Amino acid sequence: MLDIIQLLPDNIANQIAAGEVIQRPASAVKELLENAIDAGATQMHLIIKDAGKELIQLSDNGKGMSATDARLCFERHATSKIKSIEDLFSIRTMGFRGEALASIAAVAQVELKTKRAEDEVGTRVLIENSIVKLQEPCQCNVGTTIMVKNLFYNVPARRNFLKSNATETRQIIDEFTRVAMAFPSIAFKLSNNTTTIFHLEAGKLKQRIVGLLGNSFQSKLVPVEEPTEVVSIKGFIATPDTASKTRGNQYFFVNNRFIKSAYLNHAVSAAYKDLIDKDEFPAFVLFIDIDSHRVDINVHPTKQEIKFEDDRIVYSFVSAAVRHSLNKYSIAPSIDFTLNPEIQSLDAITKPFTPSLQEATKKDFLFQSFTEKGKAHFLEKRNDIANWKELYKIQSEFKLNTDVDEQKGIQSENNENKLPIENEQHIQKFIQIAGGYILATTLNGFLLIDQHLAHQRILYEKMQNTKTTKWPIQKCLIPITIELSPSDAVLINAIREDLLDLGFEVEPFGNQTFIIQGVPSDVKTGQEKESIDAILESLKHEQNDLKLDKREKLIRTLVTQKAILQSRKLSEMEMKSLYDKLFACENFKLSPFGKKIWIEMNAVQIAQQIQYV
Ligand code: ADP
Ligand code: MG
Repeated sequence: MLDIIQLLPDNIANQIAAGEVIQRPASAVKELLENAIDAGATQMHLIIKDAGKELIQLSDNGKGMSATDARLCFERHATSKIKSIEDLFSIRTMGFRGEALASIAAVAQVELKTKRAEDEVGTRVLIENSIVKLQEPCQCNVGTTIMVKNLFYNVPARRNFLKSNATETRQIIDEFTRVAMAFPSIAFKLSNNTTTIFHLEAGKLKQRIVGLLGNSFQSKLVPVEEPTEVVSIKGFIATPDTASKTRGNQYFFVNNRFIKSAYLNHAVSAAYKDLIDKDEFPAFVLFIDIDSHRVDINVHPTKQEIKFEDDRIVYSFVSAAVRHSLNKYSIAPSIDFTLNPEIQSLDAITKPFTPSLQEATKKDFLFQSFTEKGKAHFLEKRNDIANWKELYKIQSEFKLNTDVDEQKGIQSENNENKLPIENEQHIQKFIQIAGGYILATTLNGFLLIDQHLAHQRILYEKMQNTKTTKWPIQKCLIPITIELSPSDAVLINAIREDLLDLGFEVEPFGNQTFIIQGVPSDVKTGQEKESIDAILESLKHEQNDLKLDKREKLIRTLVTQKAILQSRKLSEMEMKSLYDKLFACENFKLSPFGKKIWIEMNAVQIAQQIQYV
């Protein structure tokens, strides 16, 4: 009988393996970026063409490879990163399985140029379908450039399986963002065809977040920092007003590696409870550092999962750290440290705490680190609006680098170094007076706030941020057709994109006809057409004001339309919420039209007034 088992040729074996590691252009991007980081690069430039289907090219200034390594790096299980099984447990580099380049070379045409600082000349290698076509010395800079051309050219089934260019590009940007976020001290550039999408200088994390997520985050980031001996968390959370309807801006890194964890995301959301709507997600970029023996990061290249020794404690730790920051910077004036229902229903809490369990817990590393005083879990329950001064410190710090553009069109009086309530007293009571003013009393005096102007300011800043956080759209049950005059049609076409950001979905339907597909949820059913008409009306009136761009005009129009009226009766809760949101604003003193929103009087001023009378 003949033997029937055959060894697969290398290229076929590699192709099969590649199916796991390289699923789409974005996976190749991730592997290349991580290799460059492992190589100690301080600068890298990623170029993609045709959503990475035609070209993915990464140049780095890392340590480069010798001529031999340049050939070996494409072999399966070729890695410089682990030498023994022991290394596996203390792994700190991004990759180590030695599969990525072999896999990529199995399914693409790859060109490598690399040079080490100590070498006279570099090496150039051409490889495709796992077969080395050429290896020669070449002139190049220190570092490595890898060009991956025509991914899956030899696996048509996979190539056909790729999604649209928009989707694949989005995925690449996501991978890029995750890596760039984790390494703010490395300069990154991303070019798509001939356009530069990102150009990120080396710098601090805050700067990197703004570079990646957009300028609107500039003044919205609140630091989080809770170091303990075994687990630490640091990074930034964004103020509640930046919360969005999608999970887009949630970044968790464990030991500097991006991970997806619904559980930890929930821990953060729990800390924002009552500050954001149920269907909104807070933005954050948080880094958890933990002894690598205490976690099992699933190191499979395509997974980003994690298992902690004790999930539940990490959950409380994260949640408490976030609350601590929200509280410290007066974003959540009153903090309730009761555990949330999710935690309360966990075994560890519902089951009796037996002596043997108690022993086990005491040995737990996290428990030990938690017994240090002054850490997040020790925060006492506070009801005061704490530390106005600290809040202000942050605001003014960010203010310095605020893009001028953001303030465009506001006659902004610079916030002087002064806050409404100088001492750290808290609001005693909110009373609505004189039909439209909120009297907020403190131990030391009072504030009188114009509710209409306050709401204008809040809406204005929220709308300005809709470039990154869209205003929610409510789809019309029955799309509404409108006929416009030719000039109105031109006008609406010009603002259609901005309208969409602000919750109005209006589609052209030939000539002067348009279809309203959706409106912001605060527009009542039946009022859709009126609200569009009103926008067009007031836009036309403002048209002479050439200084303002059309988006700014639109926002101003909407602000005036939507702000609560002077006559509106407010509950104590509503007043409090308005108050909190107002003072979370970048410019909490003036309305978008430059009117003073509130006045303040302290005990001394009151006494003076009375004496004068
Ligand atoms: P791994 O990263 O898991 O070791 P890879 O297939 O991604 O496996 O890379 C194989 C080896 O090639 C790496 O261990 C490293 O020695 C070398 N290498 C890859 N990319 C670079 C680079 N950009 N600069 C220097 N060396 C690199
Ligand atoms: Mg690698």
